[in-house]
Amino acid sequence: MLIFTCPYCGVAADETELSAGGEAHLKRFGPGSSDDDFEGYLFVRENPKGVHFERWRHAYGCGKWFHAARCTVSMEVFGTYSAQTTRPPEDILGRIVEKHPNFKWRDIEAAE
Ligand SMILES: [Zn+2]
Repeated sequence: MLIFTCPYCGVAADETELSAGGEAHLKRFGPGSSDDDFEGYLFVRENPKGVHFERWRHAYGCGKWFHAARCTVSMEVFGTYSAQTTRPPEDILGRIVEKHPNFKWRDIEAAE
């Protein structure tokens, strides 16, 4: 069972108290974007075997959305952080690299 510590209220909540919101750090495309960009935003997801960044909502707690970094293979949680960020905090990235030395955070801004 996944247990995430909500970064807002500090409660260690298991997944039955949370709502999954899909992949985190998606670059959003709307009106005026190309068909390929909009299709990618709507349908293309990483779905990795390994480190993944996800959106979760503390549905039966404070109700706020947050981001979580975890491994989809071992289910290890590397940390949770505010959903109002475009990049995971450095301490979380450091914990990921300790376990997955080849991991590299994608640079969302450079992908534009
Ligand atoms: Zn909370």
